[in-house]
Amino acid sequence: MASTILTNGRIFTPSTGSEGYEFQQTMIISGDRIQYVGAPNHDAIQQAKDAGAHEVDLQNKVVAPSFIDSHMHIVDFALSRRKLSLLSCKSLDEIRQAIKAFAEANPKEPRIMCKSWVQSTTGGEALASMLDDLDPRPIYIHANDMHSGWCNTAALEELGAATMADPPGGTIHRDENGKPTGLLSEMAHIAVVPQFLISATPLEDKLSALDDAAAEYTAAGYSGMIDMGMEDTEWGVLKAWRERHGENFPFHIAAHWVIPPNDDMDVVFRHVDEAIARHREYHPATSPNFCIVGIKLMCDGVVDGCTAALTDPYQGRENPVDPIWPTDALQAVVKKADAAGLQIAIHAIGDKAVRDAIDALSLAQPGRRHRIEHLELTSPEDAKRLGQLGITASVQPVHSDPAIFRAWPGLIGEHRCSRAFAYREFLEGGAPVAFGTDSPTAEHLALPNLYNATTRRSAIEPECTETVNSHFGLPLAAAVSAATTGAAYSRWADSWTGCLKAGLSADFVVLDMDWKAESLLKAKVQQTWARGRKTFDASANDARL
Ligand SMILES: [Zn+2]
Repeated sequence: MASTILTNGRIFTPSTGSEGYEFQQTMIISGDRIQYVGAPNHDAIQQAKDAGAHEVDLQNKVVAPSFIDSHMHIVDFALSRRKLSLLSCKSLDEIRQAIKAFAEANPKEPRIMCKSWVQSTTGGEALASMLDDLDPRPIYIHANDMHSGWCNTAALEELGAATMADPPGGTIHRDENGKPTGLLSEMAHIAVVPQFLISATPLEDKLSALDDAAAEYTAAGYSGMIDMGMEDTEWGVLKAWRERHGENFPFHIAAHWVIPPNDDMDVVFRHVDEAIARHREYHPATSPNFCIVGIKLMCDGVVDGCTAALTDPYQGRENPVDPIWPTDALQAVVKKADAAGLQIAIHAIGDKAVRDAIDALSLAQPGRRHRIEHLELTSPEDAKRLGQLGITASVQPVHSDPAIFRAWPGLIGEHRCSRAFAYREFLEGGAPVAFGTDSPTAEHLALPNLYNATTRRSAIEPECTETVNSHFGLPLAAAVSAATTGAAYSRWADSWTGCLKAGLSADFVVLDMDWKAESLLKAKVQQTWARGRKTFDASANDARL
Protein backbone atom coordinates (compact mmCIF):
# COMPACT_ATOMS: atom_id res chain seq x y z
CA MET A 1 0.00 0.00 0.00
CA ALA A 2 1.34 3.44 -0.88
CA SER A 3 2.75 5.25 2.15
CA THR A 4 3.67 8.85 2.73
CA ILE A 5 6.33 9.97 5.21
CA LEU A 6 5.84 13.48 6.54
CA THR A 7 9.12 14.71 8.02
CA ASN A 8 10.49 17.78 9.71
CA GLY A 9 7.15 18.90 11.15
CA ARG A 10 5.72 19.96 14.46
CA ILE A 11 3.14 17.23 14.83
CA PHE A 12 0.73 17.94 17.67
CA THR A 13 0.20 14.88 19.84
CA PRO A 14 -1.15 14.31 23.34
CA SER A 15 1.37 13.44 26.05
CA THR A 16 1.29 12.53 29.69
CA GLY A 17 3.75 15.35 30.54
CA SER A 18 2.79 18.53 32.41
CA GLU A 19 1.91 20.39 29.20
CA GLY A 20 -0.45 17.64 28.09
CA TYR A 21 0.95 17.72 24.55
CA GLU A 22 4.19 17.50 22.63
CA PHE A 23 5.39 17.92 19.09
CA GLN A 24 6.72 14.97 17.13
CA GLN A 25 8.76 15.34 13.97
CA THR A 26 7.62 12.50 11.77
CA MET A 27 4.38 10.83 10.74
CA ILE A 28 3.82 7.96 8.32
CA ILE A 29 0.46 7.45 6.71
CA SER A 30 -0.43 4.29 4.87
CA GLY A 31 -3.66 4.09 2.92
CA ASP A 32 -6.33 5.77 5.02
CA ARG A 33 -4.52 5.24 8.35
CA ILE A 34 -1.79 6.79 10.44
CA GLN A 35 0.92 4.17 10.69
CA TYR A 36 3.46 5.93 12.88
CA VAL A 37 3.97 9.21 14.77
CA GLY A 38 7.25 9.89 16.55
CA ALA A 39 10.96 10.51 16.24
CA PRO A 40 12.61 10.47 12.80
CA ASN A 41 15.07 7.67 13.62
CA HIS A 42 12.61 4.82 14.03
CA ASP A 43 12.86 1.53 12.11
CA ALA A 44 9.39 2.11 10.65
CA ILE A 45 10.74 5.04 8.67
CA GLN A 46 13.54 3.12 7.01
CA GLN A 47 11.14 0.31 6.24
CA ALA A 48 8.66 2.70 4.64
CA LYS A 49 11.47 4.29 2.60
CA ASP A 50 12.67 0.87 1.46
CA ALA A 51 9.13 0.07 0.37
CA GLY A 52 9.12 3.19 -1.82
CA ALA A 53 7.20 5.63 0.38
CA HIS A 54 6.68 9.13 -0.89
CA GLU A 55 8.40 11.74 1.33
CA VAL A 56 7.08 15.21 2.19
CA ASP A 57 9.21 17.84 3.97
CA LEU A 58 6.88 19.80 6.25
CA GLN A 59 9.42 22.62 6.70
CA ASN A 60 8.60 22.92 10.38
CA LYS A 61 4.89 23.46 9.81
CA VAL A 62 2.40 22.50 12.49
CA VAL A 63 0.35 19.37 11.88
CA ALA A 64 -2.81 18.92 13.94
CA PRO A 65 -5.76 16.58 13.65
CA SER A 66 -8.12 18.05 11.07
CA PHE A 67 -10.90 20.06 12.65
CA ILE A 68 -14.36 18.78 13.43
CA ASP A 69 -17.07 21.42 13.71
CA SER A 70 -19.02 19.99 16.62
CA HIS A 71 -22.04 22.24 16.23
CA MET A 72 -23.13 23.48 12.83
CA HIS A 73 -25.93 23.35 10.26
CA ILE A 74 -24.61 22.18 6.91
CA VAL A 75 -27.63 22.73 4.66
CA ASP A 76 -28.36 26.16 6.17
CA PHE A 77 -24.68 27.01 5.80
CA ALA A 78 -24.68 25.97 2.15
CA LEU A 79 -27.82 27.92 1.29
CA SER A 80 -26.79 30.94 3.36
CA ARG A 81 -23.69 31.50 1.20
CA ARG A 82 -26.02 32.68 -1.56
CA LYS A 83 -27.96 35.11 0.61
CA LEU A 84 -27.44 38.84 0.88
CA SER A 85 -25.69 39.65 4.15
CA LEU A 86 -27.11 42.62 6.06
CA LEU A 87 -24.46 42.43 8.76
CA SER A 88 -22.84 45.73 7.84
CA CYS A 89 -26.18 47.61 7.61
CA LYS A 90 -26.57 50.01 10.50
CA SER A 91 -30.12 51.27 9.88
CA LEU A 92 -33.41 50.45 8.15
CA ASP A 93 -32.40 52.78 5.37
CA GLU A 94 -29.19 50.88 4.71
CA ILE A 95 -31.05 47.56 4.83
CA ARG A 96 -33.56 48.80 2.26
CA GLN A 97 -30.85 50.12 -0.06
CA ALA A 98 -28.93 46.83 0.13
CA ILE A 99 -32.03 44.76 -0.64
CA LYS A 100 -33.02 47.01 -3.52
CA ALA A 101 -29.57 46.75 -5.11
CA PHE A 102 -29.44 42.97 -4.59
CA ALA A 103 -32.91 42.52 -6.13
CA GLU A 104 -31.93 44.53 -9.19
CA ALA A 105 -28.69 42.58 -9.59
CA ASN A 106 -30.51 39.22 -9.33
CA PRO A 107 -33.59 39.53 -11.56
CA LYS A 108 -33.90 35.75 -12.10
CA GLU A 109 -34.00 34.71 -8.46
CA PRO A 110 -37.51 33.62 -7.45
CA ARG A 111 -37.02 35.03 -3.93
CA ILE A 112 -34.85 37.65 -2.27
CA MET A 113 -33.00 35.91 0.55
CA CYS A 114 -31.14 37.91 3.19
CA LYS A 115 -29.22 36.98 6.31
CA SER A 116 -27.46 38.51 9.31
CA TRP A 117 -30.02 41.17 10.18
CA VAL A 118 -28.99 42.64 13.51
CA GLN A 119 -32.34 43.31 15.18
CA SER A 120 -31.14 46.39 17.07
CA THR A 121 -30.46 48.21 13.77
CA THR A 122 -34.22 48.52 13.23
CA GLY A 123 -34.97 48.99 16.91
CA GLY A 124 -36.26 45.40 16.93
CA GLU A 125 -39.04 46.42 14.53
CA ALA A 126 -39.75 44.13 11.59
CA LEU A 127 -42.84 44.97 9.59
CA ALA A 128 -43.70 43.61 6.17
CA SER A 129 -44.71 47.13 5.20
CA MET A 130 -41.11 48.29 5.70
CA LEU A 131 -40.13 46.02 2.75
CA ASP A 132 -43.19 45.77 0.53
CA ASP A 133 -42.35 48.57 -1.90
CA LEU A 134 -38.85 47.19 -2.63
CA ASP A 135 -39.72 44.24 -4.86
CA PRO A 136 -42.81 42.15 -5.65
CA ARG A 137 -40.98 38.86 -5.00
CA PRO A 138 -41.04 37.23 -1.55
CA ILE A 139 -38.35 38.73 0.69
CA TYR A 140 -37.01 36.66 3.57
CA ILE A 141 -34.65 38.15 6.14
CA HIS A 142 -33.02 35.89 8.69
CA ALA A 143 -31.88 37.47 11.93
CA ASN A 144 -28.18 37.22 12.68
CA ASP A 145 -28.88 34.74 15.48
CA MET A 146 -31.20 32.70 13.18
CA HIS A 147 -33.87 32.74 15.87
CA SER A 148 -36.26 35.05 14.07
CA GLY A 149 -37.24 36.05 10.59
CA TRP A 150 -38.64 39.12 8.94
CA CYS A 151 -40.81 38.72 5.84
CA ASN A 152 -42.51 40.97 3.34
CA THR A 153 -46.18 40.40 2.52
CA ALA A 154 -45.39 38.17 -0.49
CA ALA A 155 -43.29 35.90 1.73
CA LEU A 156 -45.95 35.77 4.45
CA GLU A 157 -48.49 34.78 1.80
CA GLU A 158 -46.23 32.12 0.33
CA LEU A 159 -45.72 30.65 3.82
CA GLY A 160 -49.44 30.72 4.56
CA ALA A 161 -48.70 32.59 7.79
CA ALA A 162 -52.18 34.12 8.03
CA THR A 163 -53.86 30.75 8.55
CA MET A 164 -51.01 29.16 10.50
CA ALA A 165 -51.36 28.70 14.26
CA ASP A 166 -48.42 29.78 16.40
CA PRO A 167 -46.27 26.66 16.86
CA PRO A 168 -45.34 25.78 20.48
CA GLY A 169 -42.35 27.90 21.48
CA GLY A 170 -42.86 30.42 18.69
CA THR A 171 -44.84 33.54 17.76
CA ILE A 172 -46.19 34.80 14.46
CA HIS A 173 -46.51 38.49 15.32
CA ARG A 174 -49.94 39.83 14.31
CA ASP A 175 -51.85 43.09 14.33
CA GLU A 176 -55.10 43.72 16.20
CA ASN A 177 -57.03 41.98 13.39
CA GLY A 178 -54.86 38.87 13.63
CA LYS A 179 -53.03 39.61 10.36
CA PRO A 180 -49.30 38.67 10.40
CA THR A 181 -47.18 41.82 10.56
CA GLY A 182 -43.87 40.43 9.30
CA LEU A 183 -41.91 39.11 12.29
CA LEU A 184 -41.67 35.40 13.08
CA SER A 185 -40.03 34.58 16.43
CA GLU A 186 -38.28 31.45 17.69
CA MET A 187 -40.06 28.22 16.65
CA ALA A 188 -42.37 30.16 14.31
CA HIS A 189 -39.20 30.92 12.37
CA ILE A 190 -36.87 28.02 13.24
CA ALA A 191 -39.38 25.23 12.62
CA VAL A 192 -41.07 26.83 9.62
CA VAL A 193 -39.00 29.08 7.37
CA PRO A 194 -35.77 27.10 6.77
CA GLN A 195 -37.73 23.91 5.95
CA PHE A 196 -40.03 25.78 3.59
CA LEU A 197 -37.10 27.37 1.80
CA ILE A 198 -35.15 24.11 1.59
CA SER A 199 -38.18 22.42 0.01
CA ALA A 200 -38.69 25.35 -2.36
CA THR A 201 -35.09 25.27 -3.63
CA PRO A 202 -34.50 22.85 -6.56
CA LEU A 203 -32.39 19.80 -5.65
CA GLU A 204 -29.65 20.66 -8.16
CA ASP A 205 -29.24 24.11 -6.59
CA LYS A 206 -29.00 22.56 -3.15
CA LEU A 207 -26.40 20.02 -4.24
CA SER A 208 -24.24 22.60 -5.94
CA ALA A 209 -24.53 24.87 -2.88
CA LEU A 210 -23.40 21.91 -0.74
CA ASP A 211 -20.40 21.35 -3.02
CA ASP A 212 -19.41 24.99 -2.52
CA ALA A 213 -19.91 24.58 1.23
CA ALA A 214 -17.73 21.46 1.25
CA ALA A 215 -14.97 23.36 -0.55
CA GLU A 216 -15.13 26.09 2.08
CA TYR A 217 -15.05 23.62 4.93
CA THR A 218 -12.10 21.63 3.57
CA ALA A 219 -10.22 24.87 2.88
CA ALA A 220 -10.78 25.77 6.53
CA GLY A 221 -9.14 22.52 7.65
CA TYR A 222 -12.15 20.39 8.49
CA SER A 223 -12.77 16.71 7.87
CA GLY A 224 -15.80 16.29 10.08
CA MET A 225 -18.98 17.99 11.19
CA ILE A 226 -21.78 17.47 13.65
CA ASP A 227 -25.06 18.83 12.40
CA MET A 228 -27.29 20.08 15.20
CA GLY A 229 -30.56 20.57 13.39
CA MET A 230 -31.46 17.49 11.40
CA GLU A 231 -34.94 16.72 10.13
CA ASP A 232 -36.48 14.81 7.27
CA THR A 233 -36.09 17.27 4.39
CA GLU A 234 -32.46 18.08 5.17
CA TRP A 235 -31.52 14.45 5.71
CA GLY A 236 -32.95 13.64 2.28
CA VAL A 237 -30.78 16.34 0.71
CA LEU A 238 -27.66 15.14 2.52
CA LYS A 239 -28.31 11.56 1.43
CA ALA A 240 -28.58 12.63 -2.20
CA TRP A 241 -25.38 14.66 -1.84
CA ARG A 242 -23.47 11.82 -0.28
CA GLU A 243 -24.65 9.29 -2.87
CA ARG A 244 -23.48 11.59 -5.62
CA HIS A 245 -19.91 11.64 -4.26
CA GLY A 246 -19.72 8.04 -3.04
CA GLU A 247 -16.49 7.04 -1.35
CA ASN A 248 -14.81 10.36 -2.17
CA PHE A 249 -17.10 12.23 0.18
CA PRO A 250 -14.61 14.39 2.10
CA PHE A 251 -16.31 14.50 5.52
CA HIS A 252 -17.74 12.43 8.25
CA ILE A 253 -21.10 13.80 9.30
CA ALA A 254 -22.94 12.98 12.51
CA ALA A 255 -26.32 14.55 13.08
CA HIS A 256 -28.75 15.21 15.90
CA TRP A 257 -32.46 14.88 15.10
CA VAL A 258 -34.50 17.88 16.24
CA ILE A 259 -37.38 17.18 18.63
CA PRO A 260 -39.73 20.20 18.45
CA PRO A 261 -41.49 21.09 21.70
CA ASN A 262 -45.21 20.35 21.86
CA ASP A 263 -47.82 20.42 24.61
CA ASP A 264 -49.00 17.03 23.43
CA MET A 265 -46.42 14.51 24.66
CA ASP A 266 -47.69 11.88 22.23
CA VAL A 267 -46.53 14.12 19.40
CA VAL A 268 -43.18 14.64 21.12
CA PHE A 269 -42.66 10.91 21.64
CA ARG A 270 -43.51 10.23 18.01
CA HIS A 271 -40.61 12.50 17.05
CA VAL A 272 -38.34 10.68 19.48
CA ASP A 273 -39.44 7.34 17.98
CA GLU A 274 -38.57 8.63 14.55
CA ALA A 275 -35.13 9.68 15.80
CA ILE A 276 -34.64 6.23 17.32
CA ALA A 277 -35.55 4.58 14.01
CA ARG A 278 -33.14 6.84 12.08
CA HIS A 279 -30.41 6.19 14.61
CA ARG A 280 -30.80 2.43 14.09
CA GLU A 281 -30.76 2.84 10.33
CA TYR A 282 -27.76 5.22 10.28
CA HIS A 283 -25.97 3.96 13.35
CA PRO A 284 -22.53 5.37 14.24
CA ALA A 285 -21.19 1.82 14.68
CA THR A 286 -22.19 0.65 11.20
CA SER A 287 -22.13 3.98 9.32
CA PRO A 288 -19.60 6.12 11.22
CA ASN A 289 -19.14 8.63 8.40
CA PHE A 290 -22.82 9.39 7.98
CA CYS A 291 -24.94 8.79 11.02
CA ILE A 292 -27.69 9.99 13.32
CA VAL A 293 -26.14 9.99 16.79
CA GLY A 294 -28.97 11.43 18.82
CA ILE A 295 -31.53 14.14 19.38
CA LYS A 296 -31.44 17.90 19.83
CA LEU A 297 -33.70 19.85 22.14
CA MET A 298 -34.00 23.62 22.23
CA CYS A 299 -34.34 24.61 25.86
CA ASP A 300 -34.28 28.38 25.29
CA GLY A 301 -33.44 31.14 22.81
CA VAL A 302 -30.63 33.70 22.78
CA VAL A 303 -29.60 36.60 25.01
CA ASP A 304 -29.68 39.15 22.18
CA GLY A 305 -33.32 38.36 21.46
CA CYS A 306 -34.10 38.35 25.23
CA THR A 307 -35.32 34.77 24.77
CA ALA A 308 -32.55 32.98 26.71
CA ALA A 309 -34.01 31.64 29.96
CA LEU A 310 -32.45 33.46 32.93
CA THR A 311 -32.99 32.92 36.64
CA ASP A 312 -33.59 36.65 37.08
CA PRO A 313 -35.40 38.97 34.65
CA TYR A 314 -33.66 40.93 31.90
CA GLN A 315 -32.79 44.52 32.85
CA GLY A 316 -35.89 46.66 33.14
CA ARG A 317 -38.29 43.71 32.92
CA GLU A 318 -40.47 42.29 35.63
CA ASN A 319 -40.62 38.60 34.90
CA PRO A 320 -37.87 36.14 34.06
CA VAL A 321 -38.00 34.25 30.75
CA ASP A 322 -38.82 30.58 31.27
CA PRO A 323 -37.21 27.71 29.39
CA ILE A 324 -39.12 26.44 26.34
CA TRP A 325 -39.48 22.89 27.71
CA PRO A 326 -41.39 22.34 30.96
CA THR A 327 -39.19 20.39 33.40
CA ASP A 328 -41.22 17.17 33.40
CA ALA A 329 -41.50 17.07 29.60
CA LEU A 330 -37.76 17.62 29.19
CA GLN A 331 -36.98 14.89 31.68
CA ALA A 332 -39.39 12.44 30.05
CA VAL A 333 -37.74 12.96 26.65
CA VAL A 334 -34.25 12.59 28.13
CA LYS A 335 -35.19 9.29 29.79
CA LYS A 336 -36.73 7.84 26.64
CA ALA A 337 -33.88 8.84 24.32
CA ASP A 338 -31.23 7.77 26.80
CA ALA A 339 -32.86 4.36 27.25
CA ALA A 340 -32.73 3.90 23.46
CA GLY A 341 -28.99 4.64 23.39
CA LEU A 342 -29.27 8.04 21.72
CA GLN A 343 -27.00 10.93 22.56
CA ILE A 344 -28.87 13.99 23.81
CA ALA A 345 -27.82 17.52 22.92
CA ILE A 346 -29.63 20.35 24.68
CA HIS A 347 -29.43 23.95 23.52
CA ALA A 348 -29.16 25.96 26.75
CA ILE A 349 -27.83 29.51 26.79
CA GLY A 350 -29.27 31.22 29.88
CA ASP A 351 -28.40 30.07 33.41
CA LYS A 352 -31.94 28.84 34.05
CA ALA A 353 -32.00 26.74 30.89
CA VAL A 354 -28.53 25.37 31.73
CA ARG A 355 -29.67 24.32 35.19
CA ASP A 356 -32.75 22.56 33.80
CA ALA A 357 -30.65 20.85 31.14
CA ILE A 358 -28.12 19.58 33.68
CA ASP A 359 -30.90 18.43 36.02
CA ALA A 360 -32.52 16.50 33.18
CA LEU A 361 -29.25 14.94 31.98
CA SER A 362 -28.40 13.94 35.55
CA LEU A 363 -31.24 11.39 35.21
CA ALA A 364 -29.50 9.67 32.27
CA GLN A 365 -27.21 6.70 32.62
CA PRO A 366 -23.60 7.65 33.32
CA GLY A 367 -21.05 7.66 30.51
CA ARG A 368 -23.45 8.32 27.64
CA ARG A 369 -21.68 11.48 26.43
CA HIS A 370 -24.73 13.69 26.47
CA ARG A 371 -24.01 17.31 25.78
CA ILE A 372 -25.17 20.86 26.33
CA GLU A 373 -24.86 23.36 23.49
CA HIS A 374 -23.73 26.98 24.00
CA LEU A 375 -23.62 27.32 27.83
CA GLU A 376 -23.30 31.09 27.57
CA LEU A 377 -24.33 31.98 31.13
CA THR A 378 -23.65 29.47 33.87
CA SER A 379 -23.49 29.65 37.64
CA PRO A 380 -20.18 28.48 39.20
CA GLU A 381 -22.00 25.45 40.67
CA ASP A 382 -23.42 24.38 37.32
CA ALA A 383 -20.06 24.90 35.61
CA LYS A 384 -18.70 22.27 38.03
CA ARG A 385 -21.62 19.88 37.60
CA LEU A 386 -20.84 19.41 33.90
CA GLY A 387 -17.60 17.62 34.73
CA GLN A 388 -19.11 15.71 37.64
CA LEU A 389 -21.81 14.30 35.37
CA GLY A 390 -19.58 13.80 32.30
CA ILE A 391 -21.65 16.21 30.21
CA THR A 392 -19.81 17.58 27.18
CA ALA A 393 -19.54 21.36 27.14
CA SER A 394 -20.22 22.02 23.46
CA VAL A 395 -19.31 25.67 23.00
CA GLN A 396 -18.86 28.10 20.11
CA PRO A 397 -16.09 30.56 21.01
CA VAL A 398 -16.97 32.70 18.00
CA HIS A 399 -20.17 33.66 19.86
CA SER A 400 -18.06 35.22 22.62
CA ASP A 401 -16.45 37.72 20.24
CA PRO A 402 -16.33 41.16 21.94
CA ALA A 403 -17.73 42.76 18.76
CA ILE A 404 -21.05 40.95 19.22
CA PHE A 405 -21.10 41.14 23.02
CA ARG A 406 -21.72 44.87 23.31
CA ALA A 407 -25.48 44.66 23.80
CA TRP A 408 -25.16 42.25 26.71
CA PRO A 409 -24.43 44.68 29.58
CA GLY A 410 -27.56 46.65 28.70
CA LEU A 411 -29.67 43.50 28.49
CA ILE A 412 -28.51 41.58 31.56
CA GLY A 413 -26.24 43.94 33.53
CA GLU A 414 -22.45 43.94 34.07
CA HIS A 415 -22.65 41.57 36.99
CA ARG A 416 -24.16 38.74 34.98
CA CYS A 417 -21.83 39.48 32.05
CA SER A 418 -18.94 38.51 34.32
CA ARG A 419 -20.24 34.90 34.15
CA ALA A 420 -20.40 34.77 30.34
CA PHE A 421 -18.64 32.00 28.41
CA ALA A 422 -16.92 30.38 31.42
CA TYR A 423 -14.98 27.82 29.32
CA ARG A 424 -12.04 27.61 31.69
CA GLU A 425 -14.31 26.54 34.54
CA PHE A 426 -15.85 23.82 32.38
CA LEU A 427 -12.40 22.48 31.52
CA GLU A 428 -11.02 22.71 35.04
CA GLY A 429 -14.18 21.05 36.37
CA GLY A 430 -13.31 18.05 34.22
CA ALA A 431 -15.99 18.44 31.55
CA PRO A 432 -15.14 17.19 28.06
CA VAL A 433 -15.00 20.35 25.91
CA ALA A 434 -15.91 20.38 22.20
CA PHE A 435 -15.69 23.41 19.93
CA GLY A 436 -18.02 24.29 17.12
CA THR A 437 -18.92 27.43 15.20
CA ASP A 438 -22.72 27.12 14.90
CA SER A 439 -22.31 28.20 11.29
CA PRO A 440 -24.13 29.81 9.62
CA THR A 441 -24.98 31.89 12.72
CA ALA A 442 -21.26 32.73 12.72
CA GLU A 443 -18.22 32.22 10.51
CA HIS A 444 -17.29 28.57 10.08
CA LEU A 445 -13.53 29.21 10.20
CA ALA A 446 -11.67 27.15 12.80
CA LEU A 447 -8.63 29.35 13.39
CA PRO A 448 -10.47 32.58 14.33
CA ASN A 449 -12.67 30.40 16.57
CA LEU A 450 -9.51 29.28 18.38
CA TYR A 451 -8.43 32.92 18.62
CA ASN A 452 -11.70 33.84 20.36
CA ALA A 453 -11.35 30.87 22.70
CA THR A 454 -7.80 31.63 23.77
CA THR A 455 -7.32 35.40 23.67
CA ARG A 456 -11.01 36.27 24.18
CA ARG A 457 -10.37 39.17 21.83
CA SER A 458 -12.30 39.96 18.66
CA ALA A 459 -11.60 38.09 15.44
CA ILE A 460 -14.22 40.27 13.76
CA GLU A 461 -12.48 43.53 14.75
CA PRO A 462 -8.84 42.47 15.27
CA GLU A 463 -7.72 46.03 16.03
CA CYS A 464 -10.05 46.18 19.03
CA THR A 465 -8.31 45.26 22.29
CA GLU A 466 -11.47 44.61 24.35
CA THR A 467 -11.77 41.14 25.84
CA VAL A 468 -14.74 39.19 27.18
CA ASN A 469 -13.78 37.63 30.54
CA SER A 470 -10.21 36.85 29.52
CA HIS A 471 -9.69 34.72 32.65
CA PHE A 472 -12.09 32.16 31.12
CA GLY A 473 -9.86 31.79 28.03
CA LEU A 474 -8.26 28.42 27.31
CA PRO A 475 -4.59 27.63 26.68
CA LEU A 476 -3.89 27.09 22.97
CA ALA A 477 -3.29 23.34 23.25
CA ALA A 478 -6.55 22.84 25.13
CA ALA A 479 -8.37 24.87 22.50
CA VAL A 480 -6.87 22.87 19.61
CA SER A 481 -7.82 19.67 21.44
CA ALA A 482 -11.40 20.89 21.91
CA ALA A 483 -11.66 21.56 18.17
CA THR A 484 -10.32 18.10 17.28
CA THR A 485 -10.04 15.36 19.92
CA GLY A 486 -12.83 16.82 22.05
CA ALA A 487 -15.13 17.19 19.06
CA ALA A 488 -14.44 13.56 18.06
CA TYR A 489 -15.12 12.44 21.64
CA SER A 490 -18.39 14.34 21.66
CA ARG A 491 -19.77 12.04 18.95
CA TRP A 492 -18.05 8.80 20.00
CA ALA A 493 -15.56 9.01 17.14
CA ASP A 494 -12.41 9.27 19.27
CA SER A 495 -11.61 5.59 18.74
CA TRP A 496 -10.93 6.26 15.04
CA THR A 497 -10.27 10.00 14.48
CA GLY A 498 -9.50 13.34 16.14
CA CYS A 499 -5.98 12.54 17.29
CA LEU A 500 -2.63 11.89 15.62
CA LYS A 501 -1.64 8.42 16.69
CA ALA A 502 -0.93 5.11 14.99
CA GLY A 503 -4.00 3.18 13.90
CA LEU A 504 -6.35 6.15 13.62
CA SER A 505 -7.76 7.60 10.43
CA ALA A 506 -5.28 9.83 8.60
CA ASP A 507 -7.32 12.99 9.17
CA PHE A 508 -5.03 15.96 9.65
CA VAL A 509 -4.34 19.55 8.75
CA VAL A 510 -1.04 21.24 7.91
CA LEU A 511 -0.91 24.74 9.39
CA ASP A 512 1.42 27.58 8.58
CA MET A 513 1.51 29.22 12.02
CA ASP A 514 3.45 30.34 15.03
CA TRP A 515 2.33 28.26 17.98
CA LYS A 516 0.97 31.35 19.76
CA ALA A 517 -2.63 32.27 20.51
CA GLU A 518 -2.00 35.93 19.58
CA SER A 519 -0.87 34.85 16.10
CA LEU A 520 -3.88 32.69 15.24
CA LEU A 521 -5.45 35.26 12.93
CA LYS A 522 -2.31 35.13 10.79
CA ALA A 523 -2.25 31.33 10.74
CA LYS A 524 -3.14 29.62 7.47
CA VAL A 525 -4.45 26.22 6.54
CA GLN A 526 -1.93 24.81 4.07
CA GLN A 527 -3.38 21.35 3.50
CA THR A 528 -6.31 19.26 4.71
CA TRP A 529 -6.30 15.47 4.64
CA ALA A 530 -9.22 13.12 5.24
CA ARG A 531 -8.80 9.35 5.39
CA GLY A 532 -5.34 9.54 3.86
CA ARG A 533 -6.48 11.65 0.93
CA LYS A 534 -5.56 15.29 0.42
CA THR A 535 -8.82 17.23 0.19
CA PHE A 536 -7.32 20.72 0.12
CA ASP A 537 -3.97 22.17 -0.84
CA ALA A 538 -3.53 25.94 -0.65
CA SER A 539 -0.65 25.79 -3.11
CA ALA A 540 -2.70 23.90 -5.71
CA ASN A 541 -5.63 26.15 -6.57
CA ASP A 542 -8.96 25.23 -4.97
CA ALA A 543 -10.61 22.39 -3.15
CA ARG A 544 -13.58 21.62 -5.36
CA LEU A 545 -14.99 18.14 -5.02
ZN1 LIG B 1 -27.03 25.74 16.18
